Amino acid sequence: LYIMTAQEFIDREARYGAHNYHPLPVVLERGEGIYVWDTDGKKYFDFLSAYSAVNQGHCHPKIVKAMTDQAQKLALTSRAFYNDVLGEWEEFVTRFFGYDKVLPMNTGAEADETALKLCRKWAYMKKGVPDGKAKIIVCDGNFHGRTITIVSLSNDPESYAGYGPFTPGFIKIPYNDIPALEKALQDPDVAGFLLEPIQGEAGVFVPDEGYLKKAYELCKSKNVLFIADEVQTGIARTGRLLACDHEGVHPDILVLGKAMSGGMMPVSCVLANDDIMLCIKPGEHGSTYGGNPIAARVSIAALEVVRDEKLAENAEKLGQVFRDRISKIHSDMIELVRGKGLLNAVVIKPKNGKTAWDVCLKLRDNGLLAKPTHEHIIRFAPPLVINEEQLIEAIGIIEKTLKEFE
Ligand code: PLP
Repeated sequence: LYIMTAQEFIDREARYGAHNYHPLPVVLERGEGIYVWDTDGKKYFDFLSAYSAVNQGHCHPKIVKAMTDQAQKLALTSRAFYNDVLGEWEEFVTRFFGYDKVLPMNTGAEADETALKLCRKWAYMKKGVPDGKAKIIVCDGNFHGRTITIVSLSNDPESYAGYGPFTPGFIKIPYNDIPALEKALQDPDVAGFLLEPIQGEAGVFVPDEGYLKKAYELCKSKNVLFIADEVQTGIARTGRLLACDHEGVHPDILVLGKAMSGGMMPVSCVLANDDIMLCIKPGEHGSTYGGNPIAARVSIAALEVVRDEKLAENAEKLGQVFRDRISKIHSDMIELVRGKGLLNAVVIKPKNGKTAWDVCLKLRDNGLLAKPTHEHIIRFAPPLVINEEQLIEAIGIIEKTLKEFE
């Protein structure tokens, strides 16, 4: 039996796969809870959690069981027919998050697209915006996915350059800027305001306290829908079920993905009340795999784990420990630590030509996986099933690694 080396796995991907990612060189073959193992059997703390999709930990036995049981019974019907699981998921999810209705999709980008379509429909059917004129406000630094419309909202050339012509109908304003929002809201054709309660991909930018609440109130005063993209921040990551819960804001449209399935398969959704959601009529939107029986079963199990294992409470408590301890590390490479719950970032000051990428390579060597975003920022987001002892051990690895650059 020939055993492939890590380099051979990497070379094969490079040979046959599109080059649209730049992974850290480590080849994983197994995951359990907060740990992953590479093809040589080396064990790592996973401090990325698949961009917060694996909040429940890798291969959570309860979610695996839900998946394998359903996979042997009925996997996909499409929405051409009813099935016996979808309604149970819809009831569960709408109660869990407090909305009248839910619309299932697969990826985060699709759910954001759904929210944008829903918002435009509502503008024409309910708000009375003239046909074709609806505008949606978005924020600089956003990341909502990779479709043409969504990259049309981006001001990061890496996301949009070379993909024009772009979708019109969006107003871009700075993030965390209430006066800019007030000004943009003066346009009567504005139908919605789409934002991330914390900008994850941009580098974990946490807006000022009170920003979400004030923005929500301003939207209300202009009959504009407040649309929260909680694909990355939602489902306990920031220490509450939703990041908007920190300010008591209940979005008009809520977009969820990633940890909806605990990393098992793509499950995303949009939640809204009837006056908004019922603007989309039969045949006007959908997806072949959206809301399939496996996704529905997996997603119920994934949310039960979040609730039963008190993951939001754990994220809140351990997030505090993480930021306290990291800010006490003496290293001139740490410029700043910021975040909420267990969604945190350390801004790295390059030293002797060594950057965040080099830090992540050394972290890997020392048994902890994390990935830089935007060159000098490292996001630290372990699965939320981590305990205090494990977190302190991981922080020890981060400290030791930074010392190696002294
Ligand atoms: N929205 C936010 C806030 C995200 O962080 C992401 C992915 O990182 C997406 C949307 C896109 O999700 P997906 O990659 O599943 O399309």
